[in-house]
Amino acid sequence: KEPTDINALADEYLRLAYHGLRAKDKSFNASLVTHFAEDLPKIKVLPQDVGRVLLNLFTNAFYATQQKGRQLADETYKPTVEVTTTLKDDSVEIIVKDNGTGIPDAIQDKILQPFFTTKPTGEGTGLGLSLSYDIVVKAHGGTIDIESAEGQGATFIINLPLNG
Ligand code: ADP
Ligand code: MG
Repeated sequence: KEPTDINALADEYLRLAYHGLRAKDKSFNASLVTHFAEDLPKIKVLPQDVGRVLLNLFTNAFYATQQKGRQLADETYKPTVEVTTTLKDDSVEIIVKDNGTGIPDAIQDKILQPFFTTKPTGEGTGLGLSLSYDIVVKAHGGTIDIESAEGQGATFIINLPLNG
């Protein structure tokens, strides 16, 4: 583990996620809003592993906003992903919020399981969130919380302890 600037890491992986989806789908379009805390201290993490967690969360969030049907049916719909970092008492909190499909109640307790995916073959392995659980919870002693209302979007809240 090494002292890591979470804002810089988030910024880097946001670009990767955005450009990755954009390269696959020329009609990909989403607004990105960031609120990065200015007072964030570096925290000791495995940067590559936490980077993979962020990349998957960002990719999932952008992906969930790309429903062409909804975009066509509602011209006021603005696909948006919002990323916030905050310094808490003993942790750094990273919030990834999208206004996409949301997560249906029936699958909420399945999405952390390995190989669970609702994506077509070739677009998802279903490993992203199970890996994220291993990295955040088991390897860093952090937490993952998920809030979602079907059809309205999803919010993933990651907490990484300051003294991991
Ligand atoms: P994958 O992205 O390969 O499907 P993940 O483990 O990253 O695997 O996600 C598992 C499933 O959780 C997704 O297929 C999707 O059904 C659901 N999911 C994850 N993030 C979101 C999100 N932001 N909005 C809606 N559904 C989501
Ligand atoms: Mg994924």
